[in-house]
Amino acid sequence: MKPPPFEYRAPASVEEALNLLAEAGDDGKALAGGQSLIPLLNFRLARPSVLIDLNGIPSLSGITLTAEGSVCIGAMTRQRVLERSVDIRQCAPLITETMPHVAHPQIRNRGTIGGSLAHAEPAAELPAVMITLGARVRLQNKTGERWLSANDFFTGLFSTALETGELLTAVEVPAMPPRTGYAFEEFARRHGDFALLGVATTVTLDQSGICRDARITLVNPGAGAERMNHAAQTLLGSAPNAAKINEVAELVGSAITATADVHASAAYRQQLARVLTRRALDRAFSRALRA
Ligand code: FAD
Repeated sequence: MKPPPFEYRAPASVEEALNLLAEAGDDGKALAGGQSLIPLLNFRLARPSVLIDLNGIPSLSGITLTAEGSVCIGAMTRQRVLERSVDIRQCAPLITETMPHVAHPQIRNRGTIGGSLAHAEPAAELPAVMITLGARVRLQNKTGERWLSANDFFTGLFSTALETGELLTAVEVPAMPPRTGYAFEEFARRHGDFALLGVATTVTLDQSGICRDARITLVNPGAGAERMNHAAQTLLGSAPNAAKINEVAELVGSAITATADVHASAAYRQQLARVLTRRALDRAFSRALRA
């Protein structure tokens, strides 16, 4: 299939891109890595009349450490760059651990962090990871900018808080507190396929080894990344142990309203949620104990 006809614009600055987006209104679409958008055009599932290509805007790419220890990632930073970044490995190693699960290297060479978050595919890994890490996103339009937590940015199946005329320009990931462990687990039918289910987690211990913060977010349980707050809270106030981890994994499995599709039944996804949560928490707690 060939895409429907569109006008192609290649701005050289964010300002120019925002002006073009404002002019195009609902008919305009940003083009990042094209790894999701181009197939949608070719299948004629999207029919924008103007494509605004962000690839010629250098200021949208890059990874910067802030004085407070957080890391700021430009929206056009390629997924492969995230995967290989020493700064990301140091400040947000959950991202480094997750990246090899995102598609194949060829796709990660083009796909961007901003494209993945803006697309909000329910089986995508990065939305769940950003929610778990407490990241926030910068949204800019012609007249200003706003910051939203990743939690508030994702609003459902392929849907986000992005409004007409807005671009996602950066993602800020806060520093992990001391004695924090992390883990990402997923199961896919073949390596590089979208996840049937995945789990991103972080746990933080105090000096006496008691769990003070725990976050668990699922990839692809249903309409999108889903934070399992109730289950995670049951870890708080006690030292990690196998019985507690099993109890939380059971809670996660029974709490989700899993979707059935051609790839897996709802019961299978619930069982994956149990098994992967157990594995992820085991690894996250061992890392927190060594941190
Ligand atoms: P594009 O395709 O260019 O854009 C996607 C959407 O986001 C479009 O609507 C576009 O207008 C919008 N957009 C892009 N950037 C911005 C921005 N800065 N501000 C506002 N809107 C923006 N992904 C996974 O997470 N896990 C996988 O396992 C996986 N497997 C894949 C397997 C295959 C075979 C393919 C082709 C893709 C796969 N992907 C997977 C998707 C891939 O990660 C894409 O790179 C990603 O979803 C979209 O990023 P992109 O930069 O290519 O965005």
